[in-house]
Amino acid sequence: MPGGTDQTLRPFLWRAANLYPDTEIVSRTHEGIERYTYAEYDDRTAQLANALTEYGIEEGDRIGTFCWNHHRHFETYFAVPTIGAQLHTINPLLPDEHIQYIVDNADDELIFVDESMAPKLASAAADAPEFDGVDFVVMSSTGTDALDATPYEEFISDDTDYEWPILDENQPAGMCYTSGTTGNPKGVEYTHKMLWSHTMATLTPHGIPMADDDVVMPVVPMFHVNAWGMPFTATAGGSKHVYPGPSPDPEDIVSLIENEGVTISAGVPTVWLGLMEYEKHNDVDLSSLDSVIVGGSAAPESMIRWFDDRDVELLHAWGMTEMSPIGSVAHVKHELADADYETKLQKRKKQGITVPGLEFRVVDDDGNEVPWNGEDFGELLVRGPWVTTEYFQRPEANRSDFDGEWLKTGDVVTVDEEGYLHIVDRAKDVIKSGGEWISSVELENAIMAHDDVGEAAVVGIPHEKWQERPAAFVVPTDDADTDGLADGIMAMLREEYPKWWLPDTIEFIDAIPKTATGKFSKKDLRDQYSDESLVEGRVPDDAAPDADD
Ligand code: AMP
Repeated sequence: MPGGTDQTLRPFLWRAANLYPDTEIVSRTHEGIERYTYAEYDDRTAQLANALTEYGIEEGDRIGTFCWNHHRHFETYFAVPTIGAQLHTINPLLPDEHIQYIVDNADDELIFVDESMAPKLASAAADAPEFDGVDFVVMSSTGTDALDATPYEEFISDDTDYEWPILDENQPAGMCYTSGTTGNPKGVEYTHKMLWSHTMATLTPHGIPMADDDVVMPVVPMFHVNAWGMPFTATAGGSKHVYPGPSPDPEDIVSLIENEGVTISAGVPTVWLGLMEYEKHNDVDLSSLDSVIVGGSAAPESMIRWFDDRDVELLHAWGMTEMSPIGSVAHVKHELADADYETKLQKRKKQGITVPGLEFRVVDDDGNEVPWNGEDFGELLVRGPWVTTEYFQRPEANRSDFDGEWLKTGDVVTVDEEGYLHIVDRAKDVIKSGGEWISSVELENAIMAHDDVGEAAVVGIPHEKWQERPAAFVVPTDDADTDGLADGIMAMLREEYPKWWLPDTIEFIDAIPKTATGKFSKKDLRDQYSDESLVEGRVPDDAAPDADD
């Protein structure tokens, strides 16, 4: 096998297959639990690579995947980039028109699709010229009635030898689209060098390190920023992999943790809220778990405490599709090692300290640097080897979303004296009332701390005098008594926040609309529920930023 000195992905697998040939890869699929070793995984990536080459895939071609987390999807993770092609993971939860747009924009040649997802892809592809010339491979041994697709086990070759090419580190290896809240999704290309440097940075102690004694289970979907890079990091570390398959529920997650001895897992807060609820009524043994990585949205304090009580470290992480994705992890710095539990918790709740290799700046509306005092807000800008410097074929976004090589994250943050970042809002969601900023996220968290509140979202509604005023949309818990609930929430907020921060209205709704990645869709919320009459005439004259503090 040829070597190579550039920063490319193949050496990670070479090491795992040769140093840890017997370490397992375990996968929950539609066909049951499958398991094999790194040695067999290495053979199967060669079989897939041979099949792709025989099919006619060449360097630079794009291959789509429309799949959950399982071993076959993982095979595409190394086989596609290491032959010089580009792995384009498609989020199957997107609406059809976005799927059509991104398949066309990425110019995918071939799409690998899960059997359970085939009807959804067939619906997006039906009569859609964007899919002209695209072939399908279904991730099963039997096939699907929904699409004209070759079964994966028939598609891959018998040949387990492949002459891996020497690739340039700037060769694109992956691609993922950000789920835009307005307009079409924007494509982000990951070069080998970006994925290599992201892997190396995450392996360091202030990243999310994984080693040969770890059992790693990404619950975060492999269609979302390469499952936060974990399949690459776990391979580089020689860890055992566990893939939880299609739509895992808490029972599936718990049984995999217990049966496979998972030591590190990762997912968005919703996943762990599900586990916390499940544990109330079931026996759950988390004793093998050392840590869970929680990101995508803020980890609630109660969740950190819940895991602490079970001797599992919750590592709160922040990242973005544009950043491959990890930016920061809330590790406790050595200088705080002797601090008491509550002091450390205040740091661990934040989005953390940047992983080595990244630089950041925080600037206010006028472009001035914001001091590191834990109070002043500004927009976070980042740069580093695994941060993209452009969107794919989107010159207008490239002009507005970058400042030279700095990516404008769109996240509004504070930085404290120790360098911990705390996201207070998205730049487009922060509420500007009378020229001052109100954090919608802080208000939401404060409202969600009420026992009778399931979910809450706060948005700015246009206002003649104050430009914008906050309106809160609240989903009460199933057993909540809504009589007097709005007054109760307001009383609670009044204790913590100045008068001008208080929402002008609290509206009860059945559910907060969500994006394809499970986040609150404030755009849909505004479109569905809010109009200016919600806040008009409700704001007393003294509700100005300088009225009472
Ligand atoms: P995506 O590109 O879909 O992964 O979304 C990235 C965005 O998710 C970031 O810019 C943040 O606004 C948000 N995000 C990611 N991690 C966190 C976190 N730990 N806490 C709060 N927001 C987060």
